[in-house]
Amino acid sequence: MAIREVRQMGDPVLSKVCKEVKEMNERTQILIEDMFDTMYEANGVGLAAPQVGILKRICVIDCGDDPICLINPVVLETSGEQTGQEGCLSVAGKAGVVTRPNYAKVKALNEDMQEVIVEGEELLARALLHEIDHLDGHLYVEKVEGDLFEVTYEEDEE
Ligand code: ZN
Repeated sequence: MAIREVRQMGDPVLSKVCKEVKEMNERTQILIEDMFDTMYEANGVGLAAPQVGILKRICVIDCGDDPICLINPVVLETSGEQTGQEGCLSVAGKAGVVTRPNYAKVKALNEDMQEVIVEGEELLARALLHEIDHLDGHLYVEKVEGDLFEVTYEEDEE
C-alpha cells in the first residue's frame, strides 16, 4: 500500500483533460490501489487520478457503502437538484456550497474492465459528478455559490 501526494488547486495537472484507459495492466492496478489508500488516509469520499498527478480517466469513491472504482466513466442521466456543502482533497481545509443533480446514472468499466452501471442519489450522486468533473479538468470551486469557507476536522485520536 502506498499513499500518494494529493495535488492542490493551482497545480496545472488538475486542469487537464484525462485520457481514456485502454487496457488494465499492473501499473494501473497499483495506481487504483494507491488511490483507495490515499483517499482513505485523507478521510475523503472520492479521489480522481489527476489528483495524484496521473492523467487517466479513473476515479474511486466510497461513501460508506461500497468501494467503487470507475474507469472511463460517462454520465448517462441526471435528474433533480441538491444544494449542499462540498469539499475536495485538492482544496484542503475548505468547503463551499454547490448545487448539483440529486440523481446520477453513470456507465463505466470496473477494475476487470467490465462494463458497470452505477447510480446514486444525494451524496453518491454528488461524489460521482464531482469526480467525473476532475477527469475533464474541472474543480468544484468553479461551481461554488458564494465564497469558500474554512473547515476544520477533529484530529484523529492517535
Ligand atoms: Zn475533488
